[in-house]
Amino acid sequence: MKLARIGVTAWTEIKPRGPYATVSRHYADSVVRAGGLPLLLPVLADLSLVPSLLDGLDGLLLTGGTDVNPGLYGQERHPAVAAVDPDRDRWERALVLGARDRGMPVLGICRGAQLINVALGGTLVQDLATQRPGTLDHVRDGQPMDSLAHPVRLVPGPSRLGRALGRESASSPVLTVNSFHHQAVDVLAPGLVATAWAPDGVVEAFEAPGDAFLVGVQFHPEALTADHPEFTALFRALVGSAQS
Ligand code: MN
Repeated sequence: MKLARIGVTAWTEIKPRGPYATVSRHYADSVVRAGGLPLLLPVLADLSLVPSLLDGLDGLLLTGGTDVNPGLYGQERHPAVAAVDPDRDRWERALVLGARDRGMPVLGICRGAQLINVALGGTLVQDLATQRPGTLDHVRDGQPMDSLAHPVRLVPGPSRLGRALGRESASSPVLTVNSFHHQAVDVLAPGLVATAWAPDGVVEAFEAPGDAFLVGVQFHPEALTADHPEFTALFRALVGSAQS
């Protein structure tokens, strides 16, 4: 069988020698572990290239990184929002909308999930610590990426997330995840439903019900696939959907 081609979004890092397209190897390694073929996508300025680029892909993986520009969901920037990358925002937004138009499977991780929600019309909590005082420490500054941080409760009943992780049941299955985010989904975009929450109510996963695979997770499964194989199943779900 032909391997599913999964586009993995990179971002732009300015180095002394010029701009570099950068992304953690964890994403590509996780796609390979799931039986897919990762293809790295640099941020491009020319959005007219999106359709041709998507023609060459079977699925899309939106990676983590810097905060989404709050202007995209009609808010002033909170002081805790550090550098934003408007070029990356508009590029990835165009990728998401293009992929959604053609029913291409999409998985968003951390910023990638937040970006999907914003692209489809939702909003974000810009800074959990100040805007949702009393929530857990979701930032976990300085902790290793594969360190498990807090439980998440999955929605009872059928969901793509539950099916992918083999945790689908009538009760609310619990999963322990890592956590490296100071933002989270606030208002979900039309057409999306939450499928997992931290004990403090923070949305940790969402998806679009229906035929097209569109899943966002706030945790970082890509950093867990090496030592916690159950998380590879999430990438297998993306690759499997991309193959069919
Ligand atoms: Mn978290």
